[in-house]
Amino acid sequence: MSQIYDRVALIGLGLIASSMYWAIKRAGLANEVTGFARSTATRETARRIGLCDRVCDTAQEAVQGADLVVLCVPVGAMAAVAKDIAPVLKPGATVSDVGSVKRHVIKSVAPHIPEGVHFIPAHPLAGTEHSGPESGFAELFDNRWSLLVPVDGSDPDAIARLRAFWEGLGSNVDEMDADHHDLVLAVTSHAPHLIAYTMVGVADDLRRVTDSEVIKYSAAGFRDFTRIAASDPTMWRDVFLTNKDATLEILGRFTEELFALQRAIRTGDGEQLFDYFTRTRAIRRGIIDAGQDTDAPDFGRGKAS
Ligand code: NAP
Repeated sequence: MSQIYDRVALIGLGLIASSMYWAIKRAGLANEVTGFARSTATRETARRIGLCDRVCDTAQEAVQGADLVVLCVPVGAMAAVAKDIAPVLKPGATVSDVGSVKRHVIKSVAPHIPEGVHFIPAHPLAGTEHSGPESGFAELFDNRWSLLVPVDGSDPDAIARLRAFWEGLGSNVDEMDADHHDLVLAVTSHAPHLIAYTMVGVADDLRRVTDSEVIKYSAAGFRDFTRIAASDPTMWRDVFLTNKDATLEILGRFTEELFALQRAIRTGDGEQLFDYFTRTRAIRRGIIDAGQDTDAPDFGRGKAS
């Protein structure tokens, strides 16, 4: 793989940005990568572990002269960062992001993007429950989907370049409209996270089952929930605050199905339960066949998720 941008700036140096940096280096996608994080502690860690060719003390310094700027901060923080860097963006540069919600990012970031700068939102569908500058690894995006969500009038050449960049990071790339993205992600990621948070919260509330029993006898189902429910609280708070409509729509449907299954259990309708579980088993098979997970029995406890 060869160089796609001369200079790339990563704003926010957590799991996603650090994984991007190691993957950029692995494939030689940029000549220089600058980075910025708001806290001194994160900037110091980044310098200590060699994360970024140059760690800057301000976001403005990091983006100066950059051909690609990627906002890697929580969704709720994107607008303030965009406003801050806007005056110093290089004409012809591309600004992108990795936020888990797209309509809100477009609404809050696009107004700050100056004329002559391309804005192409994106979202890599890859992550783990870990966060911070030391949690990244070069393979995070390998064989995972990354979605580009171009806004009206996005420049085709700039889109093609960003696509090549994400392919260079190891991803398969698709384009999607923002509203559709937010609905798909509400089904595949946002609602499941809320359900996991709830299930772990219920176990925590159930005083008749002690904490040590929850830990000691933790069966695979619950263990997977605890892994998901360990995800970063700031990131997930922002996801639910900014993908409100789609998440509420899916949770409404979820509640209806849950009540139907609850009723089947109460009335002893084994046929309904069996049919339902047969249908859902086929979905799992489809995910494995699509290469998005393995059949290994310890699924979910490896590095990539
Ligand atoms: P992370 O590991 O928690 O890192 C977040 C970074 O953003 C840190 O450098 C943090 O700075 C900075 N930050 C936090 N709040 C900020 C604020 N108010 N203003 C400026 N900077 C702020 O997060 P991440 O997992 O890399 O997630 C980054 C983005 O990727 C989010 O938008 C998330 O939705 C998206 N995403 C995450 C995943 C996932 O599974 N984790 C997957 C796909 C996309 P300090 O370290 O200095 O506090």
